[in-house]
Amino acid sequence: VKKKAGKFEKQAKAVNQTAVLGAGIMGGGIAYQSASKGTPILMKDIKEEAVELGLKESRKLFAKQVERGKLTTEQMAEKLTLIRPTLSYGDFGHVDLVVEAVVENPKVKDAVLTEVEGLVSEDTILTSNTSTISITRLAQNLKRPENFCGMHFFNPVHRMPLVEVIRGEKTGDAAVAATVAYARAMGKTPIVVNDCPGFLVNRVLFPYFGGFSLLVEQGADFQRVDKVMEKFGWPMGPAYLLDVVGMDTAVHANEVMAEGFPERMARDGKTAIQVMYENERLGQKNDKGFYAYE
Ligand code: NAD
Repeated sequence: VKKKAGKFEKQAKAVNQTAVLGAGIMGGGIAYQSASKGTPILMKDIKEEAVELGLKESRKLFAKQVERGKLTTEQMAEKLTLIRPTLSYGDFGHVDLVVEAVVENPKVKDAVLTEVEGLVSEDTILTSNTSTISITRLAQNLKRPENFCGMHFFNPVHRMPLVEVIRGEKTGDAAVAATVAYARAMGKTPIVVNDCPGFLVNRVLFPYFGGFSLLVEQGADFQRVDKVMEKFGWPMGPAYLLDVVGMDTAVHANEVMAEGFPERMARDGKTAIQVMYENERLGQKNDKGFYAYE
């Protein structure tokens, strides 16, 4: 897979100025990672508070680097200037690549992507960080679908090395090349995958969550399962990982997978994960999931 990504990289146009739409968990993380590795990024949201929070998170992460002696305070200040928070599309005419990371709602994404396409230059690459919406589907309303592909980061962005670069039916090589190059410039490992429900990682991860859910439904102690998987060598077990992902996100992603692969992913009755979700045990985002958080 690495070889394939390398092949695309040779044809990449320069990615010197980027933008991220949405300053939430993912958008904020993407802005930090880009600035941290030296690529300037505009961080746009529709809410002032979101932009402020995104910037605050970046400050916190940079400050940790300073504490660890990995950055000087001058370097931190310099890197922070690479993130330009904004509520308007003012400077989007000079952007080489845009990462859309707004809420996971196809209508909102359609509106945002068509809006931004009308403002950037003809060869600007547009990407989406969607976890569950088809890239081919999101390209439908675009005038230049060849310039569009998926750029799927994982949470937390600064810690997760993998980025899925997703080719929609009409995605051109130049879009893939630039996105692969940008992912590498951010210090990430890109893999180029085709567009399908769950892309690659979630196609592996969700059957695993499904297996875990069945065990719990049959009476297994989730903490023991987590300990077993840790002994097996994984950094964390499935219950803890589900708490990190969020039960709402997991239920929604599973529905998408079940629709795409009903024979393998659809289940009769409620899963343990659905029951958790219905009982508002969402995970770390509301401090209670399989585990309790302070
Ligand atoms: P979030 O709710 O934390 O942030 C979304 C942000 O988008 C909010 O700040 C909101 O104000 C902003 N927004 C809404 N409409 C906008 C618009 N028109 N223009 C600009 N900003 C707008 O959500 P998130 O968890 O960061 O998820 C963002 C995307 O990343 C989703 O597509 C999600 O599926 C994907 N994703 C999330 C995760 C995760 O674990 N959270 C992992 C991978 C991918």
